[in-house]
Amino acid sequence: MQKITSLKECRAAVVALRQQGLTVGFVPTMGALHDGHMALAQQSMRDGHKTIVSIFVNPKQFGVGEDFSRYPRVEDADAVLLEQMGVDFLYLPAVTQMYPDGFATQVRVQGITDYLCGKTRVGHFEGVATVVTKLLNQVQADTAYFGEKDWQQFQVIKRLALDLDISTHIVGVPIVREEDGLALSSRNRYLNATDRAKAPLLYITLCHLADEIVAGGDVAALLKTATHGLTENGFVVDYLELADATTLEPVHNMQKPARLFVAARLGNTRLIDNVGVDIAE
Ligand code: AMP
Repeated sequence: MQKITSLKECRAAVVALRQQGLTVGFVPTMGALHDGHMALAQQSMRDGHKTIVSIFVNPKQFGVGEDFSRYPRVEDADAVLLEQMGVDFLYLPAVTQMYPDGFATQVRVQGITDYLCGKTRVGHFEGVATVVTKLLNQVQADTAYFGEKDWQQFQVIKRLALDLDISTHIVGVPIVREEDGLALSSRNRYLNATDRAKAPLLYITLCHLADEIVAGGDVAALLKTATHGLTENGFVVDYLELADATTLEPVHNMQKPARLFVAARLGNTRLIDNVGVDIAE
């Protein structure tokens, strides 16, 4: 695996691959890699691409009081994992290269970002959209892979790629979970033993709710009861909502496939998850 740290090296690597007639798959991450990230890289490799994984803890997507300074940074261990898996390039851009003095542009995707995490994480999706636009432009991959765990982020990225004529094909990869159902996340390592034991309740709650909604239950009443259940178990619920899978607008009456989304804090750790709710159309 080749480590690259500058845009110049990144562009040269991609040009060399193209000259050999090879295609490029790209997986942007913030590091502290786990099997969820690995699933994206594996998909890229399975699709026959030379694969570039980037690690960049993007300061612009963390709000005031969020965990930017304590976000896990374990670059050496990450590099070993990627090398073992057969990833071809690890791209590690510096903050000063991504945001040099005078940097003044922000990418904002309207609509989708009004809901769910967009309501409470002020500026978060602008930070994500800006860095992902830059990374997609830098790498100019054939395909870029994003996890469905961050479903709203995935929709934001699909929208910006379409709107800004970015030719990289945007592909979603299903959520990778622990055996007990907890969605893998770099933030899970913040959980103490008590909270780690409680954390799977988030996914269990979503699955039960999905079944009850499909069975025809009253959506608002079910969401209220489920939120109460999580609160009683020590979660501070940011949102628990049924929403349109593409626009992220709230869905009050289940008439078409939608998704359930949850964000909740256990102690200082914010967890998110989502599941599909499919009814026959
Ligand atoms: P992050 O490092 O948290 O920014 O995540 C980098 C990419 O990995 C994003 O596209 C995430 O959606 C994806 N990802 C993170 N956790 C998971 C998971 N448990 N399953 C699938 N994809 C994931």
